[in-house]
Amino acid sequence: MMFQRTPMIAGNWKMNLRHSEATALIKTIRQGIEGLEGVEVLVAPPFTHLAVAREAIGDAPIFLAGQNMHWEMSGAFTGEISGRMLQGATCTHVILGHSERRTLFNETNETVDLKVRSATFLGLIPIVCVGETLEEREAGNTFDVLKTQLDGSLRNFKADQLMRPSTILAYEPVWAIGTGRTATPEQAQEVHRFIREWIETTFNTGTAAQVRILYGGSVKPENISDLMAQPDIDGALVGGASLKGDSFVQIIRYKGH
Ligand code: PEP
Repeated sequence: MMFQRTPMIAGNWKMNLRHSEATALIKTIRQGIEGLEGVEVLVAPPFTHLAVAREAIGDAPIFLAGQNMHWEMSGAFTGEISGRMLQGATCTHVILGHSERRTLFNETNETVDLKVRSATFLGLIPIVCVGETLEEREAGNTFDVLKTQLDGSLRNFKADQLMRPSTILAYEPVWAIGTGRTATPEQAQEVHRFIREWIETTFNTGTAAQVRILYGGSVKPENISDLMAQPDIDGALVGGASLKGDSFVQIIRYKGH
C-alpha cells in the first residue's frame, strides 16, 4: 500500500542546556524552518525547560515532547512526572524507553509498556525507542532482541489488537548513540523493514504503512540525506546534533530546500 508518511526530525536534548541556551536554540530553529513544509519538527527539552521552550516556540510549528513520564496519573512517586503534567506543559509527544532510560535507570519492556498505554490513553503521542547493543548485534541476535522489545513494550497494543497509526517508533542501535558510529543506511533500512513487517504481522497492513519509524544514533547533517533516502526511514531522533541550532536546522532541511 502506498502511503505518504510525513518525515519527522526530533531533537532529544537529554540533560543539557541552560534556559538562555534553550531560548537561543529555539530561536535559531524557528528562523531556520521559516517557510519549510512537509517535515515535522519536535524538541524534547528537560522537564524544567518545557515552559521556557514553549515561550520561545510561541505558535511556530515545533512540537514539544517530554523525555520520559510515569504511567500513573498522580500520586506518591517522588521525582516523577505524569503524562497529564506533560500535557499541562503543552507537550503533544513523549519519548519512551530510550536506551539511556533502559540501561541507566532500569526501565524494562514492562514499564515501557505501561507508559505507552498511559500516554496513548491521554492522547499523548509516544515515541517508543528500541535497539540492540553491539554484543547483541555481533552475536547475530539483532532481530530477536528487537522482536522481544516490540512484543514487550507494545504488549497492551497487542492485547487490544490496536496500534494507533500516530504512534511513532524509533530504532536506535545502542552502539550508535553518542558514539559517532552511525548504522549504514542499509543496516538501518534492514531493521526498519523488519519493524514495519512486525507491525504488519501483529496488527495490519494499513497501520504498518502509516506508523513512522525514526532512526537515531549519531545522525548529523552529513549522513541524514542517505538515511532519509531509505524507504522505511521516516525521520530521525537526534541527540548531540540537536543541541546546535545550525546543525539541527541542516538536518531538518535535509531535502536541500
Ligand atoms: C539519542 O540519544 O536519541 C541519540 C540518537 O543520540 P546521538 O544523536 O547523540 O547519537
